[in-house]
Amino acid sequence: MNPVLSQATIDRLRQIASGSAVSHCYLLTGPAGSFRNDAIQAFEQLLHCSHKSGCGTCIPCKLLQTDNDPDTITLIADGASIKIDAIRDMLDRIKYGPTSNSFFTVKIPDAQTLTTQAANALLKTLESPPERVIFLLGAPSRAAVLTTITSRSQVIPCAISSPEQITAYLASIGFAHNDTWQAAPNAALMASKSGAKLPDWVPTLDDVLNAPPAQRIILTHPLGKSKDLVLICMVKWIEELWQTVQKKPADPAVSQTIRRLDLLVENILQLRYNLNPRLHLDQILLSL
Ligand SMILES: [Zn+2]
Repeated sequence: MNPVLSQATIDRLRQIASGSAVSHCYLLTGPAGSFRNDAIQAFEQLLHCSHKSGCGTCIPCKLLQTDNDPDTITLIADGASIKIDAIRDMLDRIKYGPTSNSFFTVKIPDAQTLTTQAANALLKTLESPPERVIFLLGAPSRAAVLTTITSRSQVIPCAISSPEQITAYLASIGFAHNDTWQAAPNAALMASKSGAKLPDWVPTLDDVLNAPPAQRIILTHPLGKSKDLVLICMVKWIEELWQTVQKKPADPAVSQTIRRLDLLVENILQLRYNLNPRLHLDQILLSL
C-alpha cells in the first residue's frame, strides 16, 4: 500500500473493497497534498486484487502494476478538459463489462476537468451502469464536480498526510541515506523545543514569507548546496504549516496554508528528479 496515504483513507478503502456491497461510483476528494491520485490507484488495486488486500503478488495485482490489465481505463484531460469524445470511447469499451470475474474500473482522477457535455454523458451511464463496472473519480473538492454526479457517487474525502508519513515516505525512497538527513531535523527540533535559535541554515517559513522575494533567496542561500538541506527545510516548513492547519481548521485563511502545503508536498516529491536544488528551491520560494 502506498505509504503516503493517510491511515484513515487506507482503512476506509480496504473496508469498502473487502465488503460485499461495492457501489458503482466513488468520488475521492482532496487537495494535491492528500495524494488523492495515489488513493485512487490503491483503491483500484484493492478492488482488482484476488485477496482484496492489494497484495502485489496475485495475477490481477501484477497485471495492474505492469499496465497490462485489460479491465481498466484512465481518462485524462486532452488540453484543459476531458471532452465528450473521450467519454464515448470509454462507453464503447465498458459496454460488455470486465473480461475477468472481477471488476472493470474507470479512473477519472481529475473529474473537475470534464466539460458539461462530457459530465452529462457520464451521468447517463451512472444512472444505469453496466454490471461490474466501477467508476473511480477524483476532484480537489466535492464542489468541483456537478452535484448531479456527486449525488450518484459515494464521496470519500482523503485526509492530508501527516509530516511523519511524508518523512517516512521520503525515507522509503532513499532520502534518509546520510547523516545530514538523520541528524539535522533532530537538531532543529531539539533547538526549537529548548527555545534556542534554530540552526542558521533553517529559516522558519514565517521568516521566509515575511521577506520580499529577492530577500527570500538570500535568506535560504546556504540551503541550496545540497538536496538534503533543501529537503530538511521543506519538511520543517511542512510541519509548521501542518500545525497551523490543525490549530485553526475553520479559519478562512487556512486555504492559503493548505495551498502552500500542497505546493511543498508536490515539490518535495519532484526534488529527487531535479539535479539543481538551488534552482528548485528558488522556484518554490517565488511561488509560496
Ligand atoms: Zn493481489
